[in-house]
Amino acid sequence: MATNRTFTMIKPDAVEKGHIGGIINMITEAGFRIVSMKLTQLTVADAQKFYAVHSERPFYGELVEFMSRGPIVAAILEKDNAVEAFRTLIGATNPADAAEGTIRKKYATSIGENAVHGSDSDENAAIESAFHFAGREEF
Ligand code: ATP
Ligand code: MG
Repeated sequence: MATNRTFTMIKPDAVEKGHIGGIINMITEAGFRIVSMKLTQLTVADAQKFYAVHSERPFYGELVEFMSRGPIVAAILEKDNAVEAFRTLIGATNPADAAEGTIRKKYATSIGENAVHGSDSDENAAIESAFHFAGREEF
């Protein structure tokens, strides 16, 4: 498959615990090229919009509060088959189910506070990337 892009966030739990460096290291060691990266923070409205697909789920309020409570690292990443390759690198949503060697196995503490986000499709990767980065911030 051709080289393409995905979008990630290092979530507030991992930033609070000082895991930015460890997670970026796992990402680059796995062969992803960093296209864009910044330390930023989601407002409550940003988090509601970002996870709107989950608005009917019982954990939505908790998820929005969590994702907006502190800074995140937002990044665009490039690799062959990037969306699927990155979902494999981050591991299952619940760290109890995450495979050895995955980012969530190493750094996530619960199904809610699971250290990283990874886009679930090329289409969503493009939407999420445009939400955080202007074209001149992509390298
Ligand atoms: P993400 O979209 O953040 O990469 P994901 O695609 O693995 O995660 P989703 O099903 O999209 O998982 O859920 C989005 C986020 O909502 C999860 O990463 C997690 O933070 C939170 N979440 C999902 N399920 C639960 C749950 N049962 N209880 C609490 N939080 C949950
Ligand atoms: Mg998801």
